[in-house]
Amino acid sequence: MSNRPALNNARTHTGYDAVIVGAGFAGLYMLYRLRQLGLHVRVFESGSGVGGTWYWNRYPGARCDVESVQYSYQFSDALQQEWEWTERYATQPEILRYANHVADRFDLRRDIQFDTRITSATFDESRAHWSLQTQHGKCVTAPFCIMATGCLSSTNTPSFRGLDTFRGEVYHTGRWPHESVDFTGKRVGVIGTGSSAIQSIPVIAEQAQHLYVFQRTPHYTVPARNTPLDPEYKREVKRSYAALRSHAKQMFAGIDLRLNDQAAVQASEEERQREYESRWTYGGVSFMGAFNDLLFNEASNATAAAFVRSKIHEIVRDPAIAEALSPSYVIGCKRLCVDTGYYDTFNRANVTLVDVSKAPIDAITPVGVKQGTREYTIDCLVLATGFDAMTGALFNIDIRGKGGQTLREKWLGGPRTYLGLMTAGFPNFFTITGPGSPSVLTNMLPSIEQHVEWITDCLKHLRSHCIDRIEPTLEAENEWVAHVNEVAGTNLRSSCSSWYVGANVPGKPRVFMPYIGGFPAYVQKCNAVVAAGYRGFVLSATSHRAAQVIPAPADSA
Ligand code: NAP
Repeated sequence: MSNRPALNNARTHTGYDAVIVGAGFAGLYMLYRLRQLGLHVRVFESGSGVGGTWYWNRYPGARCDVESVQYSYQFSDALQQEWEWTERYATQPEILRYANHVADRFDLRRDIQFDTRITSATFDESRAHWSLQTQHGKCVTAPFCIMATGCLSSTNTPSFRGLDTFRGEVYHTGRWPHESVDFTGKRVGVIGTGSSAIQSIPVIAEQAQHLYVFQRTPHYTVPARNTPLDPEYKREVKRSYAALRSHAKQMFAGIDLRLNDQAAVQASEEERQREYESRWTYGGVSFMGAFNDLLFNEASNATAAAFVRSKIHEIVRDPAIAEALSPSYVIGCKRLCVDTGYYDTFNRANVTLVDVSKAPIDAITPVGVKQGTREYTIDCLVLATGFDAMTGALFNIDIRGKGGQTLREKWLGGPRTYLGLMTAGFPNFFTITGPGSPSVLTNMLPSIEQHVEWITDCLKHLRSHCIDRIEPTLEAENEWVAHVNEVAGTNLRSSCSSWYVGANVPGKPRVFMPYIGGFPAYVQKCNAVVAAGYRGFVLSATSHRAAQVIPAPADSA
């Protein structure tokens, strides 16, 4: 046994100081930081390797739509100096290589147990620790339980009648096989037209004999303009990485983007067209930075939406198909997609767009997809139907806090957290990029790093004050939830059916789950809570120490 100071008297010979669930980017960095703190930590990962979302999402065309030089860790300058990104937007294999490089470089694997799913996590009040059960029936204990389970990791498979009778292969984009999949000569059906579908459809169309795209709602997508990275550009980025990172942290989404601080409604029609055209040519999500009111003013938003619709009609030769591909809702409400050749794919003779918005898919038959009296015969089916976002991965684990209350029960009406980091009634239980934090509305990497560093500092604080228990007060949590909802109400993103509000999963409460106040404001709030002595949290020692209760602030929002 090492002479590291244990965090909790209740640590047993089989126990750890902390257990982390998930070995994606959040779990890897959390392990790194807690190890630096001298803690005895174990990571459990259901996959056979590191990488989380990038381990599972291996579908054709998968790549990140945040630029590679920004979608990467910044905690180690040596790491960011030595790693060479090859393209403006990294492919899934390249990002997975990066995750593996990080795991090896920092010698993280020895504390990660792969192929092990955590099935339950229960807080034992008498011993003030968490007991976690693995799928193999093993139990591990630790005073601290940290969920690094990802926001988009629990796949959503709609309950299509007859799906289990389909005789061909069925693939889900979020659980793509590790072996290569070849669609050459095959008739393929893709259900869904979100980011995963929009990336995979152009690639599948090049292989397949025929591709049927089943579209319930068209999504807005802008060209990526992906390109190999110029060596001089890479050298320049590396020379000025610190400035780039620090500038990005001041931006709403934690991404260094070109933002125009002008309202679309105040610009002339000519100025608007010029700005949209320039961003369309530049490529990527900075399209939504064309004007500062696009997500706050419907009239402004409508100008950007109309521009994209005009582009769809320019690219797609058949006006009826162009019209069917043209969304009519607020642009940016569902997450803006970034593509390479998506709209152009519908000019191919071997691609058919099937509109299932008015007449839904009735059933999957042994040989195809049935809509009304029409049956589309296919050999392979691709479900690009997304995820049970933000709460799904947590609910897949039977999580029980004080008094045996389950997280599912507590979040029946939607997730309730304080800062997206903790939830009342579940002491010493942290969620990295949990609901109620900016997470999916930002570049995930800086958001992950910020949460990991906050949790690390918190555990350090507890240890140095001989405190072994932390939990938010219900009052602080209620205020935070109210603030998250209030801010969401001011943003057009909450105005449509999207996975942000749980609309893609039948029965899921309609609550805008991420915090939309922006990365810089959120970080400031987290830091202010700490500066005020963990305001809104109850810090206590299990034995002989009186609880310190730091009241929730009047302005916790
Ligand atoms: P998604 O955006 O939720 O899209 C799912 C698609 O499936 C939607 O078109 C949806 O239609 C359709 N669908 C669901 N149930 C259906 C049903 N019963 N019948 C017909 N269609 C159905 O999922 P995703 O494309 O996997 O993307 C999820 C998120 O992952 C993205 O928004 C993004 O945050 C992330 N992601 C990022 C990247 C990247 O960085 N490039 C790539 C992929 C994913 P409706 O719209 O009508 O619900």
